[in-house]
Amino acid sequence: MKGKMNLIIMGPQGVGKGAQSEDLARIYDIPHISTGEIFRKNIAEKTDLGKKVSAYIEKGELVPDEVTSEMVFDRLSQPDAQNGWILDGYPRNAKQSEDLDKWLKKNDKKLDAVILLEADSALIASRIQKRIREEGRSDDKPEAIAERLAIYARETKPLIDYYAQKGLLRKVDAQGDVPTVTKAIRKAIEN
Ligand code: ADP
Repeated sequence: MKGKMNLIIMGPQGVGKGAQSEDLARIYDIPHISTGEIFRKNIAEKTDLGKKVSAYIEKGELVPDEVTSEMVFDRLSQPDAQNGWILDGYPRNAKQSEDLDKWLKKNDKKLDAVILLEADSALIASRIQKRIREEGRSDDKPEAIAERLAIYARETKPLIDYYAQKGLLRKVDAQGDVPTVTKAIRKAIEN
C-alpha cells in the first residue's frame, strides 16, 4: 500500500513506538522520522548539531524547541518525505505542536492521524529493561529514564487532548506482539 500518509506516533518511553514505526514505514512506503535517532546519529558523527544536543540527551532533558523544530522541518522537506512520513518523538510539548501546525499550514500539508500507543506501566517498565539490555543506549540509565518519563507525563501527555479535539487521535492497545499491534494500528487509521 502506497503512502501519502502523514502520521504522528505517540506514547510513553518503552511502549514500542520505534518498532511499530519501522513496520508502518515499510507497509506505507514512507520514511520513519525519529528525532531521537537523528540526534544520536549526529552525536555519533560529531556534527555541530550533535555537539549542541548531546548534554541534553545524556540527562534525558528535551533539546531546545527551536533546535528540534528546525531539524524536523529540514527533514520533512527532503525529497523522500514528499509522499508521507511517520514522525516518532515529535512533537513532545505544546510549543512543538504549534510549530508543526504552522509548518504544515505554510507547506499546504495536513496530518492524517495521530496514533497513541497504550500499555500498562508494568509492561512499559519491562520493555524499557529489555531495551537497556539489548541496545546499550547511553541515555538509558535510571536518572535519565526517570526524567524522560516525567517530561512525558508533564509536557507530552497534554497533546493527547489537543489531537483528540482535532479528531485525529487513534488510540491503540500496544500490549500484544509487534505484528498484532501493527494490525491494530492499520485498522485504526484505515477505517
Ligand atoms: P525516548 O522515547 O526513550 O525518550 P528518543 O529516542 O525519542 O527516546 O529521544 C531521546 C532523546 O532525544 C530525548 O531524551 C531528548 O533529549 C531528545 N529528543 C528527542 N525528541 C525530542 C523532541 N521532540 N524535543 C526535544 N528533545 C527531543
